[in-house]
Amino acid sequence: MRITKLSAEPFDLPLIEPFIIATGRKDAANNVLVRVELEDGTVGFGEVAPSPYTTGDTQATSIAAINHLRSVVEGRDVESWRTLLVDTRKALRHQFAAHSGVEIAVLDAWGKMAGVSLHQFFGGVKTEVETDYTLSLGTPEETAKSAAKAVKQGFNKIKIKVGMTVAVDFARVKAVHEVCPDADLALDANQGFSPKDAVELARRIEKAGIELSLLEQPVRRDDLAGMRYVREHCGFLVGADETVFTPEDAIRVVREEAADVINIKVAKAGLVGALDIAGIARAANISLMIGCMMESKIGLAASVHLACGLGCFTHCDLDSVYLLQPFECEGGYHQVGPVFSVEGVGAGTGIIYQP
Ligand SMILES: [Mg+2]
Repeated sequence: MRITKLSAEPFDLPLIEPFIIATGRKDAANNVLVRVELEDGTVGFGEVAPSPYTTGDTQATSIAAINHLRSVVEGRDVESWRTLLVDTRKALRHQFAAHSGVEIAVLDAWGKMAGVSLHQFFGGVKTEVETDYTLSLGTPEETAKSAAKAVKQGFNKIKIKVGMTVAVDFARVKAVHEVCPDADLALDANQGFSPKDAVELARRIEKAGIELSLLEQPVRRDDLAGMRYVREHCGFLVGADETVFTPEDAIRVVREEAADVINIKVAKAGLVGALDIAGIARAANISLMIGCMMESKIGLAASVHLACGLGCFTHCDLDSVYLLQPFECEGGYHQVGPVFSVEGVGAGTGIIYQP
């Protein structure tokens, strides 16, 4: 079945409240809606959630990148999606988020055409995943207040953005633990610490008797030695997020023994890269996390299907939809509190969007 059209348009979504992390502040998600149309009229939807400081792309560069890929994609056979998606990567280096949006739309179109739901295509291991809820940077009081609100809403797992100072972040973690002592706590520094400061923070937390399920990206993305130092000097699992975009990056983490967990995001690796990274991590006994950028339901559905289909993610951070103002869009998954279910969802990602 031939792909007749690939298109991309701005998709701006307001946030419920500003989202602040060590590398920047966001007030709205300036995303891109991607459509792949087949000759029988089937439409596949994808979404790009660009992040200038993480994936290195913006809404404008993503639209330009996807327009650049039109000549590679249009006229091609969707059944040979793997060959096609190797060619798109060859035709344009980098632009990770743009590639991911195209891959989601192509596989959604393929699934809809074939009558196969993507979670079944990826393996059909589970039909449900439970996400954590992420807290922005802020004062200890603000962070504790947001944590209490999240727990009240039904979240059992809380991820706290850190990377301010060791003293302030320790006070924030302690404040969260005090208001929700039963919640599973993880930290994400978004490259915000030196290796020594990351270890200092971890030690203070350990000494206070607080358990962390993960310390994510404590140091700069390219500092694999620093990451390994943190891993060897603290009692918590250390995760690589910004360090791993590609399967080659995952191999470097394995070789350098730099992390216990790799955070796969479709916005970084695309769906094809995500499958390869999952294979590498599993073979190397590295645990897997699935994360997201600021995708709406349209993009997030692909990650939910991947997480359910592979069923191998020990940490799940797919909470962007709780941070964005909701809008009309059907299918993809069912959402009950922190749990996403793909039970009974239609073919592809199941997303049906008519703006
Ligand atoms: Mg992260």
